Amino acid sequence: MKDIKHLRTILALIMLLAMSSILAQNSDYPGNYAKAPRFKALLCYSETAEPAHVEFGHQAIEFFKDLTVGKGFILDVATDFTGLDFDKLSAYDVVIAINTSPRSKTERDAFEKYMENGGGWVGFHASGYNDAGTKWPWFNEFLGCGTFLCNSWPPQPALLEVNLTNHPVTKNIPVSFVAAKNEWYMWNEPADKRDNVDVLLSLSPKNFPIGLKDVVSFGEFPVVWTNRNYRMIYLNFGHGNREFSDATQNLLIVNALRWIVSRSPKGNPFTR
Ligand code: ZN
Repeated sequence: MKDIKHLRTILALIMLLAMSSILAQNSDYPGNYAKAPRFKALLCYSETAEPAHVEFGHQAIEFFKDLTVGKGFILDVATDFTGLDFDKLSAYDVVIAINTSPRSKTERDAFEKYMENGGGWVGFHASGYNDAGTKWPWFNEFLGCGTFLCNSWPPQPALLEVNLTNHPVTKNIPVSFVAAKNEWYMWNEPADKRDNVDVLLSLSPKNFPIGLKDVVSFGEFPVVWTNRNYRMIYLNFGHGNREFSDATQNLLIVNALRWIVSRSPKGNPFTR
């Protein structure tokens, strides 16, 4: 009796193994489960930024940490770019810049070299902020726009319109939606004026005039864009504690991360 039970268990195991090998061999099988963390991300944020930008940083850490559930990828966190030389940056498929950018010449040189050699960057709101005092021309070439021009105030939701509906980042996003409360930045030489830049989403002109204290009445208001010369995407979201309150916006952020990582020079980690 004991032997028969044993035999049954062995037979069941053999069948299970055969089935799983058939599934693995069948290229039509839709799932592709991670066998190890697929990629490495470094989230950079500053604790000394404007309080609403720090608040966003804390929520962003939680948001991206949640995405690592099941160990699909490794997420390291740094509070600034200090000590991040080229070799250290190169260990990452993507840098997620929350509210800060490289400051010293050493940090800037390392970041430039990383990006010029296929590095990945997903930048939010204040991570792209630069003005006449920044004095880093490469950063403007990289961003694909000029210096900061103005903003609307107070932070508020706004109607966004998708400019490129067939892009991997926007293809499953409604053509227009109301984004979460944000401080909206406008730029000198906006990104939509450059040939090497794809603007994916913009603030709709229907919002004008926008703001109660600082009122913006006209102008170009690109919100999400990519400079095709680099593996980068900039998203203007990133002010205060409501940025992750909208499902569409959250999906867009996941899409942006996935798209940047999928073009890693080490190969698309999602097909492994
Ligand atoms: Zn802000």
